[in-house]
Parts: sequence; structure tokens; C-alpha cells
Amino acid sequence: MTFLFEPQAIAVVPIVGDARQFPVRRVYCVGRNYAAHAREMGKDPDKEPPFFFMKPADAVVPGGGDIHYPPGTSNYHHEIELVVALKSGGRRIPVAGALDHVFGYAVGLDMTRRDLQLTSRDLGRPWDFGKSFDQSAPIGPLHPAATVGHPAAGAITLAVNGDTRQKGDLADLIWSVPETISFLSDYYLLAAGDLIFTGTPAGVGAVVPGDRLTGRIDGLGELAVHILPAL
Ligand code: MN
Repeated sequence: MTFLFEPQAIAVVPIVGDARQFPVRRVYCVGRNYAAHAREMGKDPDKEPPFFFMKPADAVVPGGGDIHYPPGTSNYHHEIELVVALKSGGRRIPVAGALDHVFGYAVGLDMTRRDLQLTSRDLGRPWDFGKSFDQSAPIGPLHPAATVGHPAAGAITLAVNGDTRQKGDLADLIWSVPETISFLSDYYLLAAGDLIFTGTPAGVGAVVPGDRLTGRIDGLGELAVHILPAL
């Protein structure tokens, strides 16, 4: 096949203990999946059906590191999240079999232009400008489920310059990982390479250039991100 121009390289995530890279197909994100965070966003945390948004695959920042403060915002927020990576997919996946499709897990950041997201939300407009922008999805290395199992409980934390800002537990997910995969598969054909950000615990807040973010999830290591000035 001949292309009009050289296609962009596919987005990837590194894998712990494996020289191969995980190729990214799509990035799905769950909104408001911890009750305490739903409350801090002014919403009722009762168990309604989950809702989703997406980020472009090339928003992934593999392994974290330096990212630039994005344009168009003055309220740039961190959201620490468990990320699920699929090795296979399908349609109408039952909850009971959903974990069979998981390759592994990582620590991720759903970086958010909160001012733009809330304006969109309140006007009934799409969230893309608030959520789906360049470098908005830093992800630490993937830990294969074959090694770490399927974490359903454990601390998830985010520190900024050493001060803990977010602290939660995976056991407090409103929609579990298998429930989330099953629900999504009723609306999309899921496939190998898909990533799912599973939502953030309470304590989201703003960061500025110079800040150093450290996200941790029990058993999944850490993700370090440094915010550089805007381009
Ligand atoms: Mn999020």
C-alpha cells in the first residue's frame, strides 16, 4: 500500500518484563465511577448506568514523563485512574467472562481541562475540548494480569510535589472492571488494543507548570509526570 504521506506511528504502552509494546487501538473513559468524586463534582453517586467519553489514541503518553501544560485552559486537573488494557474483545461480553479479555493493568492520568469540561457539561455540549486533547492520557507501564492478577481492591493515590491529593481504593469503584467491559461491549465492538480508564477517586485538583505528579496503585507501581510550560 502506498500512502499520500508517512502515517503517524501507532500509539503504544510499555509492558513490564516484556520488550514488546502494547499497541493502542481506542481509549475509553468512564465518568464518575467513585461515589466521593461524583459528589465533589456536584452529582448524585447513586448507581445509574455508567457513561463514557473517549480520548484519541495519540493522546497516550507512554510511561509518563514530561508533558506540556495544554492550551485553552486555566484549570488543568489531574485524575488518577486504573487503566485496563484488552488483549481481545467482542460484542455483548457477559460480566462473568469479561476478565478473560484483559491483558493487564496500569496507572493512568485522565488529564482534564476542567473549565472547558464544566462549560460543555452545563451547556449540554460534548466533552471533547475538556477531555480529549494532546498528551491528556499519560499511562505507566502495563502489568500483565498473568503476573499481577485482576486487582479488585487496593489503594489508588495521586501526589503533587509530594503532597497526597487523591486517595481511594479500587474496591470503591461503582462499576467494577468486568461490569464496565460488559456494559461497553453492548455499545461498541471491543478489540485487542483497547484501553479503558475506569474513573477517578475524590480529590481532583489543578496543576501548574513545574508540578510533579506521582500516581500509585497497589501492585501496579507508579506513574510520574512533570508539567512543562505551555508550548
Ligand atoms: Mn476521569
